[in-house]
Amino acid sequence: MPVYIVTVSGEIPLRSHRTRPRFYKRLLANLTDAVERSGGRVLAARLLEAKILVETDVDALEALSRVFGVHRAGEVAVHEFKSLRDLAEWAGREARGLVSGRRFAVKVKRSGVHDFTSLDVAREVGAVLKPYSAGVDLENPEVTVEIEVRGGRAYLYKRVVEGPGGLPTGVEGRALVLFSGGFDSPVAAWLTAKRGVEVDFLHFTLGSPRATYLAFKVARELSLRWLYGYKPRFMVVDFRRVVGEVASKVEWRMRQVALRALMYKAASRVAEKEGFDAIVTGESLGQASSQTLRNLEAVEAVAKPVKPVLRPLAGLDKEEIIALSRRIGLYDLSSKVPEACAIAPSRVETRATPVEVEGELAKLSQGLLDEAVSKMAVYDVLSAKPEDVIPSSDLEIDFIPEGALIVDARGWRGVEDGAIPGSIPLSKLDLEKPPGDRVVVVVCDTGSISQVVAGMLRERGFKAFSLRDGLKYWRRETRRG
Ligand code: ATP
Ligand code: MG
Repeated sequence: MPVYIVTVSGEIPLRSHRTRPRFYKRLLANLTDAVERSGGRVLAARLLEAKILVETDVDALEALSRVFGVHRAGEVAVHEFKSLRDLAEWAGREARGLVSGRRFAVKVKRSGVHDFTSLDVAREVGAVLKPYSAGVDLENPEVTVEIEVRGGRAYLYKRVVEGPGGLPTGVEGRALVLFSGGFDSPVAAWLTAKRGVEVDFLHFTLGSPRATYLAFKVARELSLRWLYGYKPRFMVVDFRRVVGEVASKVEWRMRQVALRALMYKAASRVAEKEGFDAIVTGESLGQASSQTLRNLEAVEAVAKPVKPVLRPLAGLDKEEIIALSRRIGLYDLSSKVPEACAIAPSRVETRATPVEVEGELAKLSQGLLDEAVSKMAVYDVLSAKPEDVIPSSDLEIDFIPEGALIVDARGWRGVEDGAIPGSIPLSKLDLEKPPGDRVVVVVCDTGSISQVVAGMLRERGFKAFSLRDGLKYWRRETRRG
């Protein structure tokens, strides 16, 4: 059974004796969750001075190295030694392969009472390994054999992976992340979770639910990879009516800022109601015209959020954010998330005043925001599927969710024109048997009859949508492709 030694972030052992046990406890819970999510169990876990020893029944190194609060994680071989000689011979057997053909060094840490020093162990092990290697090189080794001697046991590192550092997620409270799924907000969420905060996601549907669907995919990937020890939630507020009003009633210069103020207001309400300790955004100073210091100030002055607003990216350049996005493993998914249409020309107000923004918001229908927030949908990120977040009030969608069953409603023409790739004709669909919760997308020439068919399928219990513009969708996709 694999055994791992987890080195915790340097700042954890430095915490006060009252804080420390809580941090270790949560870290252990998060490590256990990481192992269980990779399909295994923790068979034993204990504190080894400032490190944590974890024994599992699966290969869990990858997962352990993605838990916040972990400085690094290593898979180790364990041996109860009888003497220095015995220890060295065991280490020789374990590390032969590691040093084979390479220049190596031996690094030893030791605690407990022994009749030898760390240096003695290093020398002895070095001598045993030397014949299998390209020689000892303490200055510039190609490989370092790491050994820890703790009391009567020795541990030899077989593989080591760097962790993210930070604090165990959960020790610092909970935050609500305004989450578009683009490059910025996921990195902001990651940085916040890294400092010990449980993050949940709040997404506003501003236009096509395709953006919401893709944002969910990013949130899910982020959660699966990095968020352990709790169940992250994805909350969706349908903001399309709000966007419509802003676009039609607010002076164009002020639209961006007005919309942001409304997002903040909505977030503040959700944060208060759901007991979050903070609101997080992916704003970075000056990155966009809506993100000038003046505008941020105006937005906050108007929205008056009841919780602190954290902007972990405030000081980062776009390149730094993109590099982090890659490191976190979200770059590809984030790059697919479309930007919402600009609801204003590019020359927007960069120096809005709170009074101006208030004045613009006063033009909007009363109760618009309350209504949107009261209809918020909440999903469990780990168990929901991306297609679940498409509002069921939409009969038409402008994209095909992954894994959807495509139904060709074109009747005889469908057959003659050749089937749509991966589709089945409507006549082949068993109307008595909806395919569980698999999404059905109905397609016809222009997207008209398909709406009728999708409506009919819904009455029969299908999770059906009609594809907007019908066959034009493929022409567009092919051109894009
Ligand atoms: P991102 O890369 O996160 O999409 P951005 O560079 O596109 O950010 P903006 O569109 O100005 O910048 O958004 C700034 C921040 O506002 C985002 O980082 C996010 O926190 C929040 N935000 C923007 N759009 C949405 C949305 N549809 N739902 C929730 N939050 C959003
Ligand atoms: Mg964006």
